[in-house]
Amino acid sequence: MPYVVPGTRTNGFQMAELICPTCRRKTPYAELAEIPYRPFCSLRCQMIDLGKWLNEEYRISEPLDGATDLSLENPSSPTG
Ligand SMILES: [Zn+2]
Repeated sequence: MPYVVPGTRTNGFQMAELICPTCRRKTPYAELAEIPYRPFCSLRCQMIDLGKWLNEEYRISEPLDGATDLSLENPSSPTG
């Protein structure tokens, strides 16, 4: 609708924005409605975030469970 409210501030705080976790780009929620990659601003940023997981940047500390390869160094016994 070609209706302009006089005195409308375009840079007000009422404008909700979402910051892309990948590139820190601010995306208005109004646009996010058309972006299927929320909360990312684009598919690229989404892939980058997934790539981080694959690259184990977000690697969770794995518990050292089993498969503990400890080479037991037996001192050369004098008797033998
Ligand atoms: Zn982004």
